Amino acid sequence: MTRKIFRYILFVSSVVLAVGIALTMVVQYHYFGDQLEEELEREASYLEVVVKNQGVEGLKEVADNSERITLIDAEGAVLYDNRADESSMENHADREEFVEAKSLGRGKAVRQSETMAERTIYFAIRLESGEILRVSSTQYNILALIGGMVQPVVIVLVIMIILAAVFADKVAARIVEPINKLDLEHPEDNDNSYEEITPLLTKIHKQQRQIGQQLAEAVHRQEEFQVITDNMQEGLLVIGRQTELLSCNRSALKLLGVKEAEEKDSVLALNRSEPFRKSVEAVLSGKHESIMMQIQDRVCSVIVNPVFQDGKVTGGVLLLLDVTEKMERERLRREFTANVSHELKTPLTSIQGYAEIMKEGIVASADVPKFSEKIFEEAGRMITLVEDILKISRLDEGCLPYEDEDTDIYECVENVFAHLQSSAQRKNVELSLTGEHCHIMTKKTIFEEMIYNLCDNGIKYNREGGKLSVSIDETAEKIEVKVEDTGIGIPAGDLEKIFERFYRVDKSHSREIGGTGLGLSIVKHAAACLNMNVDVTSQEGTGSVFKILIKK
Ligand code: ADP
Repeated sequence: MTRKIFRYILFVSSVVLAVGIALTMVVQYHYFGDQLEEELEREASYLEVVVKNQGVEGLKEVADNSERITLIDAEGAVLYDNRADESSMENHADREEFVEAKSLGRGKAVRQSETMAERTIYFAIRLESGEILRVSSTQYNILALIGGMVQPVVIVLVIMIILAAVFADKVAARIVEPINKLDLEHPEDNDNSYEEITPLLTKIHKQQRQIGQQLAEAVHRQEEFQVITDNMQEGLLVIGRQTELLSCNRSALKLLGVKEAEEKDSVLALNRSEPFRKSVEAVLSGKHESIMMQIQDRVCSVIVNPVFQDGKVTGGVLLLLDVTEKMERERLRREFTANVSHELKTPLTSIQGYAEIMKEGIVASADVPKFSEKIFEEAGRMITLVEDILKISRLDEGCLPYEDEDTDIYECVENVFAHLQSSAQRKNVELSLTGEHCHIMTKKTIFEEMIYNLCDNGIKYNREGGKLSVSIDETAEKIEVKVEDTGIGIPAGDLEKIFERFYRVDKSHSREIGGTGLGLSIVKHAAACLNMNVDVTSQEGTGSVFKILIKK
Protein backbone atom coordinates (compact mmCIF):
# COMPACT_ATOMS: atom_id res chain seq x y z
CA MET A 1 0.00 0.00 0.00
CA THR A 2 2.85 2.39 0.90
CA ARG A 3 4.50 1.66 -2.48
CA LYS A 4 1.27 2.32 -4.30
CA ILE A 5 0.62 5.62 -2.55
CA PHE A 6 4.27 6.58 -3.14
CA ARG A 7 3.97 5.82 -6.85
CA TYR A 8 0.70 7.78 -7.15
CA ILE A 9 2.12 10.83 -5.37
CA LEU A 10 5.31 10.70 -7.45
CA PHE A 11 3.36 10.32 -10.65
CA VAL A 12 0.98 13.17 -9.84
CA SER A 13 3.83 15.47 -8.72
CA SER A 14 5.85 14.66 -11.86
CA VAL A 15 2.88 15.34 -14.12
CA VAL A 16 2.07 18.58 -12.26
CA LEU A 17 5.71 19.63 -12.47
CA ALA A 18 6.00 18.88 -16.18
CA VAL A 19 2.70 20.58 -16.97
CA GLY A 20 3.68 23.50 -14.71
CA ILE A 21 6.98 24.01 -16.47
CA ALA A 22 5.34 23.73 -19.89
CA LEU A 23 2.60 26.23 -18.95
CA THR A 24 5.17 28.60 -17.46
CA MET A 25 7.13 28.48 -20.69
CA VAL A 26 4.05 29.12 -22.80
CA VAL A 27 3.06 32.06 -20.59
CA GLN A 28 6.62 33.41 -20.70
CA TYR A 29 6.77 33.04 -24.44
CA HIS A 30 3.60 35.06 -24.90
CA TYR A 31 4.67 37.56 -22.31
CA PHE A 32 8.01 38.17 -24.04
CA GLY A 33 6.24 38.33 -27.43
CA ASP A 34 3.98 41.12 -26.12
CA GLN A 35 6.97 42.90 -24.59
CA LEU A 36 8.77 42.71 -27.93
CA GLU A 37 5.82 44.16 -29.75
CA GLU A 38 5.66 47.08 -27.32
CA GLU A 39 9.42 47.65 -27.69
CA LEU A 40 9.10 47.61 -31.49
CA GLU A 41 6.29 50.12 -31.30
CA ARG A 42 8.31 52.39 -29.01
CA GLU A 43 11.36 52.10 -31.27
CA ALA A 44 9.28 52.83 -34.34
CA SER A 45 7.89 55.99 -32.69
CA TYR A 46 11.41 57.07 -31.81
CA LEU A 47 12.73 56.37 -35.31
CA GLU A 48 9.77 58.25 -36.77
CA VAL A 49 11.09 61.37 -35.01
CA VAL A 50 14.65 60.60 -36.21
CA VAL A 51 13.51 60.29 -39.86
CA LYS A 52 11.42 63.43 -39.57
CA ASN A 53 14.39 65.45 -38.32
CA GLN A 54 17.35 63.90 -40.12
CA GLY A 55 15.91 61.88 -42.98
CA VAL A 56 17.32 58.45 -43.98
CA GLU A 57 20.76 59.59 -42.82
CA GLY A 58 19.46 59.79 -39.30
CA LEU A 59 18.45 56.11 -39.51
CA LYS A 60 21.92 55.12 -40.62
CA GLU A 61 23.35 56.82 -37.61
CA VAL A 62 21.23 54.84 -35.19
CA ALA A 63 23.85 52.81 -33.44
CA ASP A 64 21.58 50.10 -32.05
CA ASN A 65 21.46 47.37 -34.57
CA SER A 66 19.49 44.99 -32.44
CA GLU A 67 16.31 45.38 -34.50
CA ARG A 68 15.94 45.38 -38.20
CA ILE A 69 14.90 48.78 -39.56
CA THR A 70 13.42 49.13 -42.99
CA LEU A 71 12.22 52.27 -44.74
CA ILE A 72 9.77 51.65 -47.57
CA ASP A 73 8.34 54.17 -49.93
CA ALA A 74 4.62 54.50 -50.56
CA GLU A 75 4.83 52.04 -53.48
CA GLY A 76 6.55 49.32 -51.51
CA ALA A 77 10.13 49.85 -52.74
CA VAL A 78 12.70 49.47 -50.01
CA LEU A 79 14.57 52.78 -49.50
CA TYR A 80 16.74 51.66 -46.65
CA ASP A 81 17.41 48.45 -44.65
CA ASN A 82 20.05 48.22 -41.95
CA ARG A 83 20.57 44.48 -42.50
CA ALA A 84 20.39 44.05 -46.26
CA ASP A 85 21.17 45.79 -49.50
CA GLU A 86 17.96 47.66 -50.34
CA SER A 87 18.54 47.39 -54.07
CA SER A 88 18.39 43.61 -53.87
CA MET A 89 15.19 43.56 -51.84
CA GLU A 90 11.85 42.87 -53.46
CA ASN A 91 8.87 45.14 -53.34
CA HIS A 92 7.09 45.15 -49.97
CA ALA A 93 3.78 46.55 -51.16
CA ASP A 94 1.96 43.26 -50.42
CA ARG A 95 3.32 42.83 -46.92
CA GLU A 96 0.58 42.67 -44.33
CA GLU A 97 2.13 45.26 -41.97
CA PHE A 98 2.79 47.60 -44.94
CA VAL A 99 -0.78 47.37 -46.18
CA GLU A 100 -2.17 47.92 -42.67
CA ALA A 101 0.16 50.87 -41.88
CA LYS A 102 -0.54 52.47 -45.21
CA SER A 103 -4.23 52.46 -44.64
CA LEU A 104 -4.43 52.77 -40.85
CA GLY A 105 -1.18 54.55 -39.97
CA ARG A 106 0.13 51.60 -37.99
CA GLY A 107 0.45 47.96 -38.93
CA LYS A 108 1.58 44.77 -37.28
CA ALA A 109 2.38 41.31 -38.56
CA VAL A 110 3.93 38.11 -37.30
CA ARG A 111 5.51 35.65 -39.70
CA GLN A 112 7.01 32.24 -39.05
CA SER A 113 10.35 31.35 -40.56
CA GLU A 114 10.50 28.55 -43.09
CA THR A 115 12.00 26.15 -40.57
CA MET A 116 9.31 27.21 -38.08
CA ALA A 117 12.07 27.66 -35.54
CA GLU A 118 11.62 31.43 -35.39
CA ARG A 119 8.96 34.03 -35.84
CA THR A 120 9.47 37.63 -36.80
CA ILE A 121 7.32 40.42 -35.44
CA TYR A 122 6.93 43.43 -37.70
CA PHE A 123 5.70 46.83 -36.66
CA ALA A 124 5.17 49.52 -39.29
CA ILE A 125 4.32 53.26 -39.03
CA ARG A 126 3.24 55.51 -41.88
CA LEU A 127 5.40 58.64 -41.83
CA GLU A 128 4.08 62.09 -42.73
CA SER A 129 5.89 61.74 -46.04
CA GLY A 130 3.81 58.68 -46.83
CA GLU A 131 6.78 56.40 -46.46
CA ILE A 132 6.47 53.41 -44.20
CA LEU A 133 9.00 52.83 -41.43
CA ARG A 134 9.15 49.22 -40.35
CA VAL A 135 10.89 47.79 -37.32
CA SER A 136 11.13 44.05 -36.88
CA SER A 137 12.63 41.63 -34.48
CA THR A 138 12.95 37.85 -34.47
CA GLN A 139 11.94 35.63 -31.61
CA TYR A 140 12.48 31.86 -31.23
CA ASN A 141 9.17 30.06 -31.33
CA ILE A 142 8.04 28.03 -28.29
CA LEU A 143 9.44 24.68 -29.39
CA ALA A 144 12.79 26.24 -30.28
CA LEU A 145 12.69 28.03 -26.98
CA ILE A 146 12.04 24.69 -25.16
CA GLY A 147 14.70 23.01 -27.30
CA GLY A 148 17.17 25.62 -26.22
CA MET A 149 16.22 25.22 -22.59
CA VAL A 150 16.15 21.40 -22.52
CA GLN A 151 19.22 21.00 -20.36
CA PRO A 152 18.29 23.41 -17.56
CA VAL A 153 14.65 22.29 -17.72
CA VAL A 154 15.67 18.62 -17.44
CA ILE A 155 18.02 19.40 -14.55
CA VAL A 156 15.28 21.33 -12.75
CA LEU A 157 12.79 18.57 -13.51
CA VAL A 158 15.10 15.85 -12.18
CA ILE A 159 15.80 17.83 -9.00
CA MET A 160 12.10 18.45 -8.55
CA ILE A 161 11.27 14.78 -9.14
CA ILE A 162 13.90 13.70 -6.60
CA LEU A 163 12.44 16.14 -4.12
CA ALA A 164 8.95 14.91 -5.00
CA ALA A 165 10.12 11.30 -4.49
CA VAL A 166 11.49 12.08 -1.01
CA PHE A 167 8.37 14.00 -0.18
CA ALA A 168 6.11 11.24 -1.62
CA ASP A 169 7.97 8.61 0.40
CA LYS A 170 7.47 10.53 3.62
CA VAL A 171 3.84 11.35 2.88
CA ALA A 172 3.04 7.75 1.89
CA ALA A 173 4.62 6.43 5.09
CA ARG A 174 2.69 9.00 7.10
CA ILE A 175 -0.62 8.11 5.44
CA VAL A 176 -0.12 4.40 5.95
CA GLU A 177 1.30 4.54 9.50
CA PRO A 178 -2.04 4.95 11.35
CA ILE A 179 -3.55 2.21 9.17
CA ASN A 180 -0.68 -0.14 9.98
CA LYS A 181 -1.07 0.63 13.65
CA LEU A 182 -4.75 -0.38 13.67
CA ASP A 183 -5.48 -3.24 16.07
CA LEU A 184 -7.87 -5.34 14.01
CA GLU A 185 -8.31 -7.79 16.88
CA HIS A 186 -10.01 -5.00 18.84
CA PRO A 187 -11.28 -2.63 16.11
CA GLU A 188 -13.44 -0.60 18.49
CA ASP A 189 -10.50 0.27 20.77
CA ASN A 190 -8.49 2.03 18.05
CA ASP A 191 -7.62 5.70 18.35
CA ASN A 192 -8.55 6.18 14.73
CA SER A 193 -7.13 9.20 12.90
CA TYR A 194 -9.11 8.60 9.70
CA GLU A 195 -12.78 9.00 10.23
CA GLU A 196 -13.36 7.51 6.76
CA ILE A 197 -12.33 4.09 8.01
CA THR A 198 -14.53 4.19 11.11
CA PRO A 199 -17.43 2.44 9.30
CA LEU A 200 -14.99 -0.22 8.16
CA LEU A 201 -13.72 -0.76 11.71
CA THR A 202 -17.29 -0.93 13.00
CA LYS A 203 -18.11 -3.50 10.36
CA ILE A 204 -15.01 -5.54 11.19
CA HIS A 205 -15.96 -5.41 14.87
CA LYS A 206 -19.50 -6.56 14.08
CA GLN A 207 -18.29 -9.35 11.84
CA GLN A 208 -15.73 -10.43 14.42
CA ARG A 209 -18.50 -10.68 16.98
CA GLN A 210 -20.64 -12.68 14.56
CA ILE A 211 -17.74 -14.98 13.64
CA GLY A 212 -16.94 -15.45 17.35
CA GLN A 213 -20.55 -16.38 18.09
CA GLN A 214 -20.76 -18.73 15.14
CA LEU A 215 -17.44 -20.32 16.07
CA ALA A 216 -18.54 -20.82 19.66
CA GLU A 217 -21.77 -22.36 18.44
CA ALA A 218 -19.90 -24.64 16.04
CA VAL A 219 -17.48 -25.71 18.80
CA HIS A 220 -20.42 -26.31 21.14
CA ARG A 221 -22.19 -28.42 18.53
CA GLN A 222 -18.99 -30.31 17.79
CA GLU A 223 -18.52 -31.00 21.50
CA GLU A 224 -22.12 -32.07 21.82
CA PHE A 225 -21.73 -34.40 18.86
CA GLN A 226 -18.47 -35.73 20.34
CA VAL A 227 -20.08 -36.39 23.72
CA ILE A 228 -23.05 -38.12 22.12
CA THR A 229 -20.97 -40.25 19.77
CA ASP A 230 -18.38 -41.07 22.43
CA ASN A 231 -21.10 -42.31 24.74
CA MET A 232 -22.70 -44.41 22.05
CA GLN A 233 -22.17 -48.12 22.40
CA GLU A 234 -22.44 -48.45 18.67
CA GLY A 235 -19.37 -47.66 16.61
CA LEU A 236 -19.81 -44.72 14.24
CA LEU A 237 -17.60 -44.01 11.24
CA VAL A 238 -18.17 -41.17 8.78
CA ILE A 239 -16.19 -41.42 5.57
CA GLY A 240 -15.67 -39.27 2.49
CA ARG A 241 -15.88 -40.16 -1.19
CA GLN A 242 -12.26 -41.35 -1.31
CA THR A 243 -12.76 -43.66 1.73
CA GLU A 244 -11.01 -41.03 3.87
CA LEU A 245 -12.03 -41.05 7.52
CA LEU A 246 -13.90 -37.87 8.50
CA SER A 247 -15.07 -38.80 11.96
CA CYS A 248 -15.13 -41.79 14.27
CA ASN A 249 -16.11 -42.44 17.86
CA ARG A 250 -14.38 -44.38 20.62
CA SER A 251 -16.67 -47.40 20.32
CA ALA A 252 -15.80 -47.78 16.64
CA LEU A 253 -12.07 -47.90 17.45
CA LYS A 254 -12.72 -50.34 20.29
CA LEU A 255 -14.82 -52.62 18.11
CA LEU A 256 -12.27 -52.53 15.31
CA GLY A 257 -9.51 -53.20 17.84
CA VAL A 258 -7.41 -50.12 17.01
CA LYS A 259 -6.01 -47.60 19.46
CA GLU A 260 -6.28 -44.46 17.36
CA ALA A 261 -7.17 -43.39 13.86
CA GLU A 262 -5.75 -40.55 11.83
CA GLU A 263 -8.36 -38.37 10.23
CA LYS A 264 -8.14 -38.21 6.43
CA ASP A 265 -6.48 -41.65 6.34
CA SER A 266 -8.37 -44.31 4.48
CA VAL A 267 -10.92 -46.08 6.66
CA LEU A 268 -9.69 -49.34 5.13
CA ALA A 269 -6.51 -48.95 7.19
CA LEU A 270 -8.63 -49.65 10.29
CA ASN A 271 -9.71 -53.08 9.13
CA ARG A 272 -8.49 -54.94 6.11
CA SER A 273 -11.02 -57.78 6.16
CA GLU A 274 -12.96 -58.63 3.02
CA PRO A 275 -16.45 -57.95 4.48
CA PHE A 276 -15.38 -54.52 5.77
CA ARG A 277 -13.84 -53.59 2.41
CA LYS A 278 -17.02 -54.75 0.65
CA SER A 279 -19.23 -52.73 2.96
CA VAL A 280 -17.14 -49.59 2.26
CA GLU A 281 -17.36 -50.27 -1.49
CA ALA A 282 -21.11 -50.80 -1.18
CA VAL A 283 -21.76 -47.56 0.69
CA LEU A 284 -19.66 -45.53 -1.76
CA SER A 285 -21.62 -47.00 -4.64
CA GLY A 286 -24.80 -45.71 -2.99
CA LYS A 287 -26.08 -48.94 -1.41
CA HIS A 288 -27.67 -49.39 2.01
CA GLU A 289 -26.43 -52.65 3.43
CA SER A 290 -26.03 -54.63 6.59
CA ILE A 291 -23.31 -57.25 6.86
CA MET A 292 -21.88 -59.43 9.61
CA MET A 293 -18.16 -59.57 10.25
CA GLN A 294 -15.90 -61.28 12.73
CA ILE A 295 -13.36 -59.02 14.49
CA GLN A 296 -11.11 -61.16 16.65
CA ASP A 297 -13.49 -62.95 19.05
CA ARG A 298 -16.38 -60.54 18.52
CA VAL A 299 -19.14 -60.58 15.93
CA CYS A 300 -20.07 -57.21 14.47
CA SER A 301 -22.98 -56.11 12.39
CA VAL A 302 -21.97 -53.29 10.02
CA ILE A 303 -24.86 -51.14 8.77
CA VAL A 304 -23.84 -48.79 5.98
CA ASN A 305 -25.75 -45.75 4.72
CA PRO A 306 -24.55 -43.62 1.82
CA VAL A 307 -24.63 -39.81 2.03
CA PHE A 308 -26.04 -38.09 -1.06
CA GLN A 309 -25.58 -34.51 -2.16
CA ASP A 310 -27.18 -33.27 -5.39
CA GLY A 311 -27.88 -36.87 -6.31
CA LYS A 312 -24.22 -37.88 -5.98
CA VAL A 313 -22.65 -40.04 -3.28
CA THR A 314 -20.35 -37.80 -1.25
CA GLY A 315 -19.54 -40.24 1.53
CA GLY A 316 -21.04 -42.73 3.90
CA VAL A 317 -21.96 -43.49 7.49
CA LEU A 318 -20.99 -46.87 8.93
CA LEU A 319 -22.63 -48.08 12.12
CA LEU A 320 -20.92 -50.96 13.91
CA LEU A 321 -22.94 -53.01 16.38
CA ASP A 322 -21.41 -55.60 18.66
CA VAL A 323 -23.84 -58.50 18.30
CA THR A 324 -21.64 -61.13 20.00
CA GLU A 325 -23.90 -61.39 23.04
CA LYS A 326 -27.03 -61.32 20.95
CA MET A 327 -25.69 -64.15 18.79
CA GLU A 328 -24.63 -66.07 21.89
CA ARG A 329 -28.09 -65.62 23.38
CA GLU A 330 -29.59 -66.80 20.13
CA ARG A 331 -27.35 -69.85 20.19
CA LEU A 332 -28.23 -70.62 23.82
CA ARG A 333 -31.91 -70.15 23.12
CA ARG A 334 -31.74 -72.57 20.21
CA GLU A 335 -29.78 -75.03 22.31
CA PHE A 336 -32.21 -74.63 25.19
CA THR A 337 -35.21 -75.23 22.97
CA ALA A 338 -33.59 -78.36 21.54
CA ASN A 339 -32.69 -79.57 25.06
CA VAL A 340 -36.16 -78.86 26.45
CA SER A 341 -37.75 -80.82 23.61
CA HIS A 342 -35.36 -83.66 24.19
CA GLU A 343 -35.81 -83.66 27.99
CA LEU A 344 -39.60 -83.58 27.68
CA LYS A 345 -39.60 -86.29 25.07
CA THR A 346 -37.93 -88.85 27.35
CA PRO A 347 -40.63 -89.00 30.08
CA LEU A 348 -43.36 -88.62 27.47
CA THR A 349 -42.04 -91.59 25.51
CA SER A 350 -42.01 -93.66 28.75
CA ILE A 351 -45.57 -92.57 29.58
CA GLN A 352 -46.70 -93.39 26.05
CA GLY A 353 -44.97 -96.81 26.24
CA TYR A 354 -46.59 -97.78 29.57
CA ALA A 355 -49.97 -96.47 28.48
CA GLU A 356 -49.80 -98.39 25.18
CA ILE A 357 -49.00 -101.68 26.92
CA MET A 358 -51.90 -101.12 29.31
CA LYS A 359 -54.20 -100.19 26.41
CA GLU A 360 -53.32 -103.40 24.55
CA GLY A 361 -54.35 -105.31 27.69
CA ILE A 362 -51.14 -107.29 27.79
CA VAL A 363 -50.37 -106.25 31.36
CA ALA A 364 -51.32 -108.66 34.06
CA SER A 365 -53.81 -107.02 36.42
CA ALA A 366 -51.30 -107.47 39.27
CA ASP A 367 -48.82 -105.28 37.34
CA VAL A 368 -51.26 -102.47 36.61
CA PRO A 369 -50.48 -100.56 39.88
CA LYS A 370 -46.74 -100.87 39.10
CA PHE A 371 -47.25 -99.48 35.56
CA SER A 372 -49.51 -96.74 36.84
CA GLU A 373 -46.86 -95.87 39.41
CA LYS A 374 -44.28 -95.53 36.57
CA ILE A 375 -46.62 -93.27 34.57
CA PHE A 376 -47.19 -91.21 37.72
CA GLU A 377 -43.42 -90.89 38.35
CA GLU A 378 -42.67 -89.85 34.75
CA ALA A 379 -45.50 -87.30 34.82
CA GLY A 380 -44.09 -85.95 38.11
CA ARG A 381 -40.63 -85.66 36.53
CA MET A 382 -42.21 -83.77 33.65
CA ILE A 383 -43.95 -81.41 36.03
CA THR A 384 -40.65 -80.77 37.89
CA LEU A 385 -38.96 -80.14 34.55
CA VAL A 386 -41.65 -77.78 33.34
CA GLU A 387 -41.50 -75.95 36.69
CA ASP A 388 -37.74 -75.55 36.38
CA ILE A 389 -38.10 -74.32 32.80
CA LEU A 390 -40.65 -71.76 33.96
CA LYS A 391 -38.27 -70.60 36.72
CA ILE A 392 -35.43 -70.20 34.24
CA SER A 393 -37.69 -68.28 31.86
CA ARG A 394 -38.79 -65.98 34.68
CA LEU A 395 -35.15 -65.32 35.59
CA ASP A 396 -34.39 -64.65 31.92
CA GLU A 397 -37.03 -61.94 32.04
CA GLY A 398 -35.15 -60.26 34.93
CA CYS A 399 -36.44 -61.69 38.22
CA LEU A 400 -40.02 -60.71 37.41
CA PRO A 401 -42.47 -60.41 39.16
CA TYR A 402 -40.67 -60.40 42.54
CA GLU A 403 -39.87 -57.32 44.66
CA ASP A 404 -37.08 -56.75 47.19
CA GLU A 405 -38.08 -57.50 50.77
CA ASP A 406 -36.42 -57.85 54.14
CA THR A 407 -35.00 -61.38 54.16
CA ASP A 408 -33.59 -63.27 57.14
CA ILE A 409 -31.04 -65.65 55.65
CA TYR A 410 -31.08 -67.91 58.71
CA GLU A 411 -34.86 -68.23 58.47
CA CYS A 412 -34.64 -69.01 54.77
CA VAL A 413 -32.27 -71.91 55.43
CA GLU A 414 -34.56 -73.16 58.22
CA ASN A 415 -37.51 -73.12 55.79
CA VAL A 416 -35.50 -75.03 53.20
CA PHE A 417 -34.42 -77.60 55.78
CA ALA A 418 -38.06 -78.04 56.78
CA HIS A 419 -38.99 -78.79 53.17
CA LEU A 420 -36.08 -81.19 52.70
CA GLN A 421 -36.44 -82.93 56.02
CA SER A 422 -38.11 -86.06 54.63
CA SER A 423 -35.70 -86.55 51.72
CA ALA A 424 -32.77 -86.05 54.14
CA GLN A 425 -34.23 -88.63 56.41
CA ARG A 426 -34.74 -91.04 53.53
CA LYS A 427 -31.07 -90.78 52.74
CA ASN A 428 -30.07 -90.56 56.36
CA VAL A 429 -28.30 -87.25 55.80
CA GLU A 430 -27.77 -85.03 58.80
CA LEU A 431 -28.67 -81.37 58.36
CA SER A 432 -26.93 -78.66 60.34
CA LEU A 433 -27.15 -74.87 60.35
CA THR A 434 -24.70 -72.51 62.01
CA GLY A 435 -24.41 -68.70 62.10
CA GLU A 436 -26.47 -65.67 63.08
CA HIS A 437 -29.75 -64.24 61.89
CA CYS A 438 -28.71 -61.67 59.38
CA HIS A 439 -30.98 -59.58 57.19
CA ILE A 440 -30.70 -58.46 53.63
CA MET A 441 -33.02 -56.72 51.20
CA THR A 442 -33.55 -59.11 48.34
CA LYS A 443 -36.09 -61.05 46.34
CA LYS A 444 -36.79 -63.61 49.02
CA THR A 445 -38.51 -66.25 46.86
CA ILE A 446 -35.62 -66.37 44.42
CA PHE A 447 -33.01 -66.38 47.19
CA GLU A 448 -34.78 -69.25 48.95
CA GLU A 449 -34.92 -71.13 45.63
CA MET A 450 -31.11 -70.85 45.40
CA ILE A 451 -30.59 -72.21 48.90
CA TYR A 452 -33.14 -74.95 48.19
CA ASN A 453 -31.40 -76.09 44.99
CA LEU A 454 -27.96 -76.19 46.65
CA CYS A 455 -29.26 -78.08 49.71
CA ASP A 456 -31.34 -80.42 47.54
CA ASN A 457 -28.19 -81.29 45.54
CA GLY A 458 -26.21 -81.62 48.79
CA ILE A 459 -28.69 -84.34 49.89
CA LYS A 460 -29.22 -85.92 46.45
CA TYR A 461 -25.51 -86.35 45.75
CA ASN A 462 -24.61 -87.26 49.34
CA ARG A 463 -23.74 -90.70 50.60
CA GLU A 464 -25.90 -92.67 53.02
CA GLY A 465 -25.39 -91.26 56.50
CA GLY A 466 -23.62 -88.20 55.17
CA LYS A 467 -23.80 -84.60 56.33
CA LEU A 468 -25.08 -81.36 54.93
CA SER A 469 -23.97 -78.24 56.79
CA VAL A 470 -24.99 -74.69 56.04
CA SER A 471 -23.09 -71.86 57.73
CA ILE A 472 -23.83 -68.13 57.61
CA ASP A 473 -20.87 -65.89 58.16
CA GLU A 474 -21.34 -62.12 58.30
CA THR A 475 -18.57 -59.51 58.22
CA ALA A 476 -18.65 -55.71 57.73
CA GLU A 477 -18.34 -56.02 53.95
CA LYS A 478 -20.06 -59.27 53.10
CA ILE A 479 -22.18 -62.24 54.05
CA GLU A 480 -21.08 -65.69 53.04
CA VAL A 481 -23.50 -68.60 52.95
CA LYS A 482 -21.63 -71.91 52.72
CA VAL A 483 -23.41 -75.16 51.71
CA GLU A 484 -21.10 -78.08 52.39
CA ASP A 485 -21.80 -81.77 51.84
CA THR A 486 -19.96 -85.02 52.34
CA GLY A 487 -21.23 -86.46 49.05
CA ILE A 488 -19.78 -87.93 45.88
CA GLY A 489 -18.07 -84.68 44.85
CA ILE A 490 -17.62 -83.33 41.33
CA PRO A 491 -14.75 -84.21 39.00
CA ALA A 492 -12.42 -81.20 38.44
CA GLY A 493 -13.10 -81.29 34.66
CA ASP A 494 -16.84 -80.84 35.22
CA LEU A 495 -16.68 -78.04 37.77
CA GLU A 496 -16.94 -75.30 35.15
CA LYS A 497 -19.78 -76.94 33.27
CA ILE A 498 -22.16 -77.89 36.06
CA PHE A 499 -23.81 -74.42 35.95
CA GLU A 500 -24.75 -74.88 32.27
CA ARG A 501 -28.34 -75.71 31.44
CA PHE A 502 -29.09 -79.43 31.33
CA TYR A 503 -25.50 -80.34 32.16
CA ARG A 504 -25.15 -83.39 34.37
CA VAL A 505 -22.00 -85.19 35.42
CA ASP A 506 -23.74 -88.56 35.34
CA LYS A 507 -26.91 -88.28 33.30
CA SER A 508 -28.53 -91.58 34.22
CA HIS A 509 -27.73 -91.19 37.92
CA SER A 510 -29.14 -87.67 37.96
CA ARG A 511 -32.26 -88.85 36.17
CA GLU A 512 -32.60 -91.72 38.55
CA ILE A 513 -32.63 -89.41 41.53
CA GLY A 514 -35.04 -87.01 39.84
CA GLY A 515 -32.62 -84.30 38.60
CA THR A 516 -33.49 -82.06 35.69
CA GLY A 517 -30.01 -80.59 35.02
CA LEU A 518 -31.45 -77.10 35.62
CA GLY A 519 -30.96 -76.70 39.41
CA LEU A 520 -27.48 -75.12 39.37
CA SER A 521 -28.32 -73.16 36.24
CA ILE A 522 -31.21 -71.58 38.18
CA VAL A 523 -28.78 -70.87 41.08
CA LYS A 524 -26.27 -69.12 38.82
CA HIS A 525 -28.95 -67.12 37.04
CA ALA A 526 -30.64 -66.14 40.30
CA ALA A 527 -27.29 -65.07 41.82
CA ALA A 528 -26.63 -62.78 38.86
CA CYS A 529 -30.14 -61.42 39.17
CA LEU A 530 -29.74 -60.73 42.90
CA ASN A 531 -26.24 -59.31 42.45
CA MET A 532 -24.57 -62.18 44.33
CA ASN A 533 -21.72 -64.52 43.48
CA VAL A 534 -21.65 -68.29 43.58
CA ASP A 535 -18.58 -70.49 43.46
CA VAL A 536 -17.81 -74.10 44.04
CA THR A 537 -14.94 -76.22 45.26
CA SER A 538 -15.15 -79.97 45.32
CA GLN A 539 -13.16 -83.10 45.90
CA GLU A 540 -14.32 -86.25 44.19
CA GLY A 541 -15.41 -88.83 46.75
CA THR A 542 -15.15 -86.38 49.65
CA GLY A 543 -17.76 -83.72 49.05
CA SER A 544 -18.49 -80.29 47.64
CA VAL A 545 -18.67 -76.75 49.00
CA PHE A 546 -20.93 -74.16 47.34
CA LYS A 547 -20.53 -70.56 48.53
CA ILE A 548 -22.95 -67.68 48.02
CA LEU A 549 -21.19 -64.35 48.45
CA ILE A 550 -23.41 -61.34 49.23
CA LYS A 551 -21.61 -57.98 49.13
CA LYS A 552 -23.11 -55.42 51.48
P1 ADP B 1 -29.63 -81.89 38.58
O1 ADP B 1 -31.02 -81.57 38.53
O2 ADP B 1 -29.20 -82.96 37.68
O3 ADP B 1 -29.13 -82.06 39.96
P2 ADP B 1 -28.11 -79.49 38.68
O4 ADP B 1 -28.03 -78.38 37.72
O5 ADP B 1 -28.61 -79.15 40.01
O6 ADP B 1 -28.88 -80.62 37.98
O7 ADP B 1 -26.65 -80.07 38.81
C1 ADP B 1 -25.90 -80.34 37.71
C2 ADP B 1 -25.00 -81.50 37.95
O8 ADP B 1 -23.97 -81.16 38.86
C3 ADP B 1 -25.67 -82.67 38.59
O9 ADP B 1 -26.23 -83.49 37.63
C4 ADP B 1 -24.55 -83.31 39.31
O10 ADP B 1 -23.88 -84.19 38.49
C5 ADP B 1 -23.63 -82.19 39.69
N1 ADP B 1 -23.83 -81.78 41.10
C6 ADP B 1 -24.56 -80.69 41.52
N2 ADP B 1 -24.48 -80.57 42.86
C7 ADP B 1 -23.66 -81.53 43.30
C8 ADP B 1 -23.17 -81.92 44.58
N3 ADP B 1 -23.52 -81.25 45.68
N4 ADP B 1 -22.37 -82.98 44.65
C9 ADP B 1 -22.01 -83.63 43.56
N5 ADP B 1 -22.42 -83.33 42.31
C10 ADP B 1 -23.25 -82.31 42.19
